[in-house]
Amino acid sequence: MTARALETRLVHPEQDRDPRTGASSIPIYQVSTYHQDDPEHLGRYDYARSDNPTREALEVAIADLEGGARGFAFASGMAAISSVLLTLQAGDHLVVGEDIYGGTYRILTTVLKRWGLTCTFVDSTDLERFAAAITPQTKAVFVETPSNPTLKITDLAAVAALAHHHGLLAITDNTFMSPALQRPLELGFDIVVHSATKFIGGHSDLIAGLAVARDAETGRRLRHVQNAFGAILGPQDSWLALRGLKTLAVRLRQQQASAETLARWLQTQPQVTRVYYPTLDGHPGRDIHLRQAGGGGAVVSFELASRAAAVRLLKSVRLPLVAVSLGGVESILSYPVTMSHAAMPAAEREARGISAGLVRLSVGLEAVADLRADLEQALAATAETASAS
Ligand SMILES: *Cc1c(COP(=O)(O)O)cnc(C)c1O
Repeated sequence: MTARALETRLVHPEQDRDPRTGASSIPIYQVSTYHQDDPEHLGRYDYARSDNPTREALEVAIADLEGGARGFAFASGMAAISSVLLTLQAGDHLVVGEDIYGGTYRILTTVLKRWGLTCTFVDSTDLERFAAAITPQTKAVFVETPSNPTLKITDLAAVAALAHHHGLLAITDNTFMSPALQRPLELGFDIVVHSATKFIGGHSDLIAGLAVARDAETGRRLRHVQNAFGAILGPQDSWLALRGLKTLAVRLRQQQASAETLARWLQTQPQVTRVYYPTLDGHPGRDIHLRQAGGGGAVVSFELASRAAAVRLLKSVRLPLVAVSLGGVESILSYPVTMSHAAMPAAEREARGISAGLVRLSVGLEAVADLRADLEQALAATAETASAS
């Protein structure tokens, strides 16, 4: 039989029904322990930090979707990322893309720094500079593409080749694309991590993290940390993530189509000074992105002339949540300056294109005409701000 398409494997993962009853979803095994018939030879399940059938169904599913040997579910995206980093050791050095998620930056520069892990942050869209940061102590590279919030594109195949040339572990955060749009392990990465809080959960009702190892040995090391450190995903949340996966492809397809429509429309709006979206003409990473991903995704960032205009927009929209996070069925409008990038000094933010007028829109499943109409009235309100000041 030929390999089934991703859409089919989302609905019918390897464990797509309860083997005991035929029930249409894997039951929520709300347990901590398992009776042992033979105390000398423990069964497949002994304690639920180590193994839980609901979590296992999710772990098997994500491993298959990303094309890896083994999958892992964690209590949050940060628990997944932190557990992956804990497979390294004191004295190890990482080369990290400078536009990675703020929480990854925080764990690396505070907690893990105290435990002796060092890292250099470099623009991962500039491969020569990225390569130049590799030292004899370097053990891993960590990148994220498209980046947040300016959607810069890193060449995944090139970074993986560079890492392997130097014998380094190649790690990437695939949250913005999900396996429905981008599968980094197929491009040579060793570990892919997700905040399943975002597109995989998809309904803004769950905090969860996933990681997939490409080969069995990397999987064994990660399994050791998962069980030892214990930041596992609970059975209720594993079930919610499994449910989210079933509609991932169809949600993203619609959200991406709307995002692309809105990105093009935003480019024509006089109040909008700049639009960031990976597949727009003139985006410097467009060709690389289209080579490695199935579309631009559902996140569009755009810039207004001033902080006052951005704040007015955020206060004037009626449909999107004004909130941190992304990837939900509802549109979410974020303000990086006070939200995701609040901890970054203003000069550093400006240098990365995160101006006071920049907002990030995660496009949901509302009718695109309604979203456009809502943005139109909110942009009109910002024009009043401009003329009043
Ligand atoms: C949200 C996010 C994380 C962290 O995930 P949590 O589930 O909030 O811990 C990591 N990486 C990216 C790209 C994210 O958007």
